[in-house]
Amino acid sequence: MSAPRVTTAPKVVAVTESSPAALSGLRSGDELLSLNGRSPRDVIEYSLLVDEPELDLVVRRRGLSEPLVVAVRKEPGEPLGIEVSSAVFDRVRTCDNHCEFCFIHQLPKGMRRSLSMKDDDYRLSFLYGNFTTLTRFTEMDLERVLTERLSPLFVSIHATDPDVRAGLLRNRRGATSLRWLGALLDADIEVHGQIVVCPGRNDGAVLEDTLAGVLDRYPGLATVACVPLGVSTFSHEDAMRPHSVAEAAAVCDLVERWQQVFLESVGRRMVFAADEYYLMAERPFPPAATYEGFPQHENGLGMARAFEAAFGGDEHAALGVRPGFFAAVDGAPAAGYRAPRLAPGTAGCDVPQTDSGGTDGTPPIAILTGEYGARVLAPLVDSLGRDDIRLVPVVNHFFGGNIGVSGLLTGTDLTAVLAGEPEGHRYLLPDSCLSEGRFLDDLTTADLPRAVEVVAENVGEELGKQLAQKASRAIPKGDGLALTFLEEAQADAAVAELFKAGARVVEITRHRETLEDLFMRVAAESGPASVGGQVQIA
Ligand code: SF4
Repeated sequence: MSAPRVTTAPKVVAVTESSPAALSGLRSGDELLSLNGRSPRDVIEYSLLVDEPELDLVVRRRGLSEPLVVAVRKEPGEPLGIEVSSAVFDRVRTCDNHCEFCFIHQLPKGMRRSLSMKDDDYRLSFLYGNFTTLTRFTEMDLERVLTERLSPLFVSIHATDPDVRAGLLRNRRGATSLRWLGALLDADIEVHGQIVVCPGRNDGAVLEDTLAGVLDRYPGLATVACVPLGVSTFSHEDAMRPHSVAEAAAVCDLVERWQQVFLESVGRRMVFAADEYYLMAERPFPPAATYEGFPQHENGLGMARAFEAAFGGDEHAALGVRPGFFAAVDGAPAAGYRAPRLAPGTAGCDVPQTDSGGTDGTPPIAILTGEYGARVLAPLVDSLGRDDIRLVPVVNHFFGGNIGVSGLLTGTDLTAVLAGEPEGHRYLLPDSCLSEGRFLDDLTTADLPRAVEVVAENVGEELGKQLAQKASRAIPKGDGLALTFLEEAQADAAVAELFKAGARVVEITRHRETLEDLFMRVAAESGPASVGGQVQIA
């Protein structure tokens, strides 16, 4: 069978100054018709092609009647220096399920356009950590995953009983598509699972049966996350409702009991309940050690403990798997809900690097966060003993229901809250509520009544080495290592050394201040911890 037809040529949206692409004359707006005679289907193939030291590109440029041929010569593995417009160039495989709990079906009109796209594409699972139900997975896909070792992948399980799963997905193929999960695990592909738990549907005895099914048929899964469904006031599904306190506590109990079963059977806890469950059940979070390295940190499992542990100086606290191998790699934005959080061209420089660290003469700091985030951060902020730093919880009136996470904050609710806040303060906003610079309701930070500084929310790994040595750090990232340097000149010198040594530089990014940086600076009160650049190698 032939490969899927390429329908869109990758379009250049940014060219890095002095990069091989810039020196060869590539421009923003150029369309890459072929690279060394090949038209990549997606950014995975594209990344392999642009690794070549000799690249002959056929380019369509606006205003020219004929395509251009651009020859690029560079070091093997040296980044080409362009960003392209999307991750998938043929067509994102869309979801053919109709889950009752689907949050996309609970969105009002006028929301950010990218939100309405229901993808179920294993490539976006590999690239960005999106969960796939595998209902559209094919034999050819399996072959490609195994050949190119596209690992890890992220699979929505929900239930292992075929009928229950098909009912939850409202798709007959849901009954059989977990056979692909077995095939992936048999081939040693790392797979992380997720169960969206809906009270009255797949909690209780069904969840027991599902975890028994995981142990029986999929013991090779790396992790299984139990996360609660989100119910907004726009839901039309009468059977979908938030968990009660007792139901949330029952999920915590069940998961902790099964952790012991998995520990005894496969030597690790494997299944984890999302932080939201402990907040709903009004229980303390489990000890940091029980998260076994925070493998699904980004999915809300142990995020609170990881942050707390990292803040407390545990340099191993948040070094777990980061969803999506290419999540941080120079390439292309995801088209779905895990798209880059800042608008193109703003990544890495949304917050000015400050020298003051919140000491004398700097304005008071207000941290904007959702209701859940406020409950996690409150003890940490209190521990600073500073009256010039405060939390500003933002209640999610826009979605209503049980929506309390920072990632679903909208510009509308932020506008209402910020209008009542004093001028002249620094307002820090977690980047998780933005996608390509837009809130869920399509507003941008420019629409807010106060200027805000966007900070990365979930970057516990940024803390580890900073605590011990502010000068630099080295952390595992994907299959490689992310190195951080205090000065850009140091980063430049390191890149030169790495090239000489034959290492492959995947990405060079300017440092963007994080919420954790802020805490560290304030806690240390020892001047700047600004970082000149980060070099990721593999
Ligand atoms: S698989 Fe995901 S995107 Fe598709 S309907 Fe279900 S929840 Fe929505």
